[in-house]
Amino acid sequence: MSKPFTVIRGGRLLDAPAHRADPADILIEGGTIREIGPPGLAAPDGATVIDAAWKLLIPGLVNGHCHGHGALAKGMAGDDWILETFLNAGPGISGNRTDEDKYLCGLICGVEMVRKGVTACYDLFFEFPTPSLEGMAAIGRGYDEVGVRAVIAPMIADFTLYQALPGLMDAIPAALRPQVEQIRLASADATLAACEAAFRAWPFARERIRPAIAPTIPLHCSDDFMKGCRDLARDWDLPLQTHLAESKSQAVLGLRKYGTSLTAHIDAMGLIGPNFSAAHGIWLDGADLDRIAGQGGAVVHNPMSNMRVGSGLARIRPMLDRKIPVAVATDGVNTSDSLNMFEAQRLASFISRVQDADYRNWLKPEEVFTMATVGSARAMGWQDHVGEIAPGFAADIVLIDLKHIHYVPLGDVTRQLVFTESGAAVDSVMIGGRLVLDRGRITTVDEERLRVRAEAAVERLRGVNAAARAFAAKLHDAVGLFCIGLCREPFPVQRLAAT
Ligand SMILES: [Zn+2]
Repeated sequence: MSKPFTVIRGGRLLDAPAHRADPADILIEGGTIREIGPPGLAAPDGATVIDAAWKLLIPGLVNGHCHGHGALAKGMAGDDWILETFLNAGPGISGNRTDEDKYLCGLICGVEMVRKGVTACYDLFFEFPTPSLEGMAAIGRGYDEVGVRAVIAPMIADFTLYQALPGLMDAIPAALRPQVEQIRLASADATLAACEAAFRAWPFARERIRPAIAPTIPLHCSDDFMKGCRDLARDWDLPLQTHLAESKSQAVLGLRKYGTSLTAHIDAMGLIGPNFSAAHGIWLDGADLDRIAGQGGAVVHNPMSNMRVGSGLARIRPMLDRKIPVAVATDGVNTSDSLNMFEAQRLASFISRVQDADYRNWLKPEEVFTMATVGSARAMGWQDHVGEIAPGFAADIVLIDLKHIHYVPLGDVTRQLVFTESGAAVDSVMIGGRLVLDRGRITTVDEERLRVRAEAAVERLRGVNAAARAFAAKLHDAVGLFCIGLCREPFPVQRLAAT
């Protein structure tokens, strides 16, 4: 039996590298793009027609790194927090989550992303004390109900922050140390077994909601634990992502602990391969990039959170020069304050302009757009059906209103899309052939009901996590000042001059 046909007529299809958008119709069968042709493209009788007059047609943006649990912690990261003080605060802002909370997180993130033209994301999702099938199914159900595709990776470790950073425990006031020492994550074996149980019983169609695995930060994982993650990725055919050299503290302590860079260390254990992506990748040198390139790994650029928590500015041109696939991402809404992939693209391009006086190295808008679509899909292992408007690809298509003031007048479509767009001109969003945003209205969930449930959840969490937040506040300066000290160490800045 044939699937229902849809035809999008009258729109203009973006060709980002050519800085053009010519009239084109798109024929869709079920959830898949069948044909793209000039206006008047033949369509079977009875096909649903979508009028795209004055609309720019772009592939759905793909968010290569986010954290769904952050949805119920919006606005809670202090404005002077660095990465490590953010991690210190984790139990206070992300603790005591019920499965219902996790489901709400999927809905909240899904709705925000759809409104900003995002159709797929790679979610590194945290659950305490161990990941669970129920928890991953809950957030997956949230994304699925909105209609967003998601790669869901349990974000796991076997060391706490205080165990992970050599010397940190000694920097904590003696009176607080006994309580800090009691903080424990589940054992490596228990966590890996919980992950495997979830992968075995995965309840979603994998082209829509796919599992992955995320040993969160190399220093937070014992070598045996990292190898366990590597083996699960191999056995279950999973993408694997880690936060690699995100902060200078991590880079300095990595050298101190392993005697090699973080990248060299995980490469020696066989973690880097075509299924691997490094989130952030700020404190990498040329040799690190050579390793990632040589093994076929990818890097995920998170310009918003890199600046928000002061981690630094990743250098992307040396990655592209080595043919490393680069994705663009927002990071969690709790550290970058939005899931706006338009903002992430603009910053990715603009940051490159202040890093190098040689304008030939600046990131062009079409390069950034490709990273935010094709590049992110590649990091998720979905490059064969996501990230492009092409026959055989999923019908994940965003309709941008060309009558919006962002495009009045239309000078250069690629520049205006990447440099001007905020998401405000996103008119409609199709995912898998279904309109999940239809002329400004979310069709799949009731946003007002979602708001009420989210407010109630946050109110409850504020209460049950109050003690954890107060304890984190007592530790804040001990953690922060320890890291400031590391950041003052002469970690060779020339390592960053990666060429
Ligand atoms: Zn992250």
